Amino acid sequence: MDLSYILNDLGEDREAYFNAVTPPIIQSTNFAFRSVGQMRKELENESDAYFYTRGNNPTVEILRKKMAALEGTEDALIFASGGAAVTAAVMGNLNAGDHLVCVQKPYGWTAKLLQKLLPRFGVTATFVDGTDAAGYEKAIQPNTKLLYLESPNSLTFSLQDVEAVTAIARKHGLLTVMDNSYCTPLNQQPVAMGVDLVVHSATKYLCGHSDALAGVVCGTRAMMAKLFDAEFMTLGGVISPFNAWLILRGLRTLHLRMERSAQSTPKVVEFLQNHPRVAKVYYPFLPSHPQYALAQKQMKRPGGMFSVELKADSIAEVERFCDNLKRFVLATSWGGYESLVYPMAVLAGASNYANPNLNWRLIRFYVGLEEPEVLISDLKQALGES
Ligand SMILES: *Cc1c(COP(=O)(O)O)cnc(C)c1O
Repeated sequence: MDLSYILNDLGEDREAYFNAVTPPIIQSTNFAFRSVGQMRKELENESDAYFYTRGNNPTVEILRKKMAALEGTEDALIFASGGAAVTAAVMGNLNAGDHLVCVQKPYGWTAKLLQKLLPRFGVTATFVDGTDAAGYEKAIQPNTKLLYLESPNSLTFSLQDVEAVTAIARKHGLLTVMDNSYCTPLNQQPVAMGVDLVVHSATKYLCGHSDALAGVVCGTRAMMAKLFDAEFMTLGGVISPFNAWLILRGLRTLHLRMERSAQSTPKVVEFLQNHPRVAKVYYPFLPSHPQYALAQKQMKRPGGMFSVELKADSIAEVERFCDNLKRFVLATSWGGYESLVYPMAVLAGASNYANPNLNWRLIRFYVGLEEPEVLISDLKQALGES
């Protein structure tokens, strides 16, 4: 199946909706039947039937099919947010007394799930430096059930050697779950490298327009059926048909946006790397990055997000730089059309994110669809060059 077929056609059936070119938003919560017998029959396989929208829905189902095809899995489930998808994928495969191993510094709320929520239910986690796959193996305990990957991980963008980690998982009979939000299936194919379950914050690149929250879990039909009957239906973190439709619209241009991001970002990174006020750049596609070879091996193209450590003597200095940026929007999230800046200094004093080891010199950037020259000149002026 070629990429444009998946993005443009797969899962769609114009004759089912008046030959409308784009699919309709089927907002209905419930679906009607002619007979009890037909209703009973549909309920036997609720995950594929149109019965109730906290299960399957025709608009959401198109997105399910496209996401499964993009990740090369048999099926997918769509959630209200990436957070809901991560939670369901992890909870769905662990019981009280189980243990998992996770890359250090994963997405913040993933860390919170593993450190704060799951321990209340008797599930424990060990965080390891994912740059050495052996770290995963060393952390395995008799009750370990799952290895969690996020490559590159949030904030420091260090990689895990995905094939090496999944080989360890196979050797010990463990399940692997990987957050592939940063790369999207276009830039990285976790299942081809042995990963069992792929999770996404579809809020980011897949949506691409900063206007809908969504999450995805991709896996085998059997694993998705198990998840559907338990965490998906009971936790109920399902996407609205309208938001699913927005993600479908975002997918139409995913390949173009990923290409633009891959072209622009290295130019912006190169400018910053050579700037005297920059101490360090965290970006796996920099030739000087210690994992550059691995990045080239397992990622097809550079992504649009990176971090910079500013040479600064005070938080105020970091704040001044960020406040002076005009084209980079000061906001969280990433993956939309707009370039963003998110300084860790924001978290200084934020009780919900309190961290005594906070590196306030660290600033996360996301490069959107603007001309890279425009972004570079904005950085120049904010760094005090013009
Ligand atoms: C944003 C993000 C999430 C959470 O997704 P939401 O859609 O915000 O719930 C998970 N993982 C990564 C890597 C993210 O960037």
